[in-house]
Amino acid sequence: MGLEELRNVVERCMRCGACEDACAFYSATHDEKFSPLAKIGIARKVLNGGIIEDGDLPSIYACTLCGICERACPLHLPITDMVRGLRKILVEEGRVPEPIMKLCENIVEHGSMTGRGPEYWRSWIPGGEAFSGKAQYLYLVGCMIPFKLHELGDVTIKIFRKAGLDFTILGGDERCCGLLLYDHGFIDEAKEIAERNVARIRETGAEKVVTACAACYKMYRHVYPKLVGDLGFEVLHAVDVIHDLLERGAIKPWKHIDARAAYLDPCHYTKLEGRFDKPRRILERIPGLELVELSRAMGLGYCCGLSGGVGVYLRDLPGKAAMKVIEDALEKGVEKIITSCPLCMYQLSRTIKRNEVKGIEAVDLPIILWESLGE
Ligand code: SF4
Ligand code: SF4
Repeated sequence: MGLEELRNVVERCMRCGACEDACAFYSATHDEKFSPLAKIGIARKVLNGGIIEDGDLPSIYACTLCGICERACPLHLPITDMVRGLRKILVEEGRVPEPIMKLCENIVEHGSMTGRGPEYWRSWIPGGEAFSGKAQYLYLVGCMIPFKLHELGDVTIKIFRKAGLDFTILGGDERCCGLLLYDHGFIDEAKEIAERNVARIRETGAEKVVTACAACYKMYRHVYPKLVGDLGFEVLHAVDVIHDLLERGAIKPWKHIDARAAYLDPCHYTKLEGRFDKPRRILERIPGLELVELSRAMGLGYCCGLSGGVGVYLRDLPGKAAMKVIEDALEKGVEKIITSCPLCMYQLSRTIKRNEVKGIEAVDLPIILWESLGE
């Protein structure tokens, strides 16, 4: 990663502005420094022999690497690679902002962004119960379930059990996937984590790794092969598995949930691959649930604003992006915003709570499905 990533965008950008409104942070604030074009301007300055100034840092770190701007760009320029390139320069110059540096150090030294070790990764397991070491599927919960979303982990394993899935978990042996390191230019450190995680998973003999989190999904499925080569196992998201369980008739939603709902596509899962059908097919099977689309949905859909550690450096910014989703959902009469990424779930829930928004809630897909399974 070097100046090539900057050149790929700067030399081809037509400055048409199509990427601007696509960006969650620019469209929520209309502040030029948060726009993709501001980032491109910094890259252009660097290529012309200039330096990254301290005043440029909010622009460079106001980015979840969601990739929506790239899809909006008529040339599909690799803006996310360019942002990683700028951040890599700051790593080399020792100028990574302190809160982001702390998160990254915690991941490297302790295996979680919180700085807590194995007890953190065990904390969500219901009753601390034991799992068998070997199974066909391995369920990885990622950082957010042990942090604040224990119920999501608990319910997902209940669904897998009800369907008779042969699965296990790593428990206290799970570690952060390292996407935050990769996205902030700590490529060698991300590679070390990838090697450790892949070696540990291979020991289990699992054929399929199932992630709860969209960020883990992106890292394991799309970035790990670039860092460590062939993984020796398939990477799926929990929604992929749940979809297949429903198709096979292993689980059958029957309980009515009478509500108007919209699905928020996680940037690092459905948007990344342009596959939007599975979560919607699952939700369509829940009796009573009326599914509508938000004004911005699917590939150019909203971003919750939380991914990439943006909030630790620019504290209010993710909330502004999330509020755009909530306001649109309210206008459409939506009572439940459903997602399948713990980052989206956490960010939407806390924005609803902090702003005391009434009549709407954020729900993770496995939780609403479990309710409809009559449990
Ligand atoms: S990757 Fe996402 S957050 Fe970053 S500039 Fe593009 S649209 Fe904005
Ligand atoms: S949409 Fe693409 S070409 Fe247009 S300004 Fe943005 S990066 Fe440049």
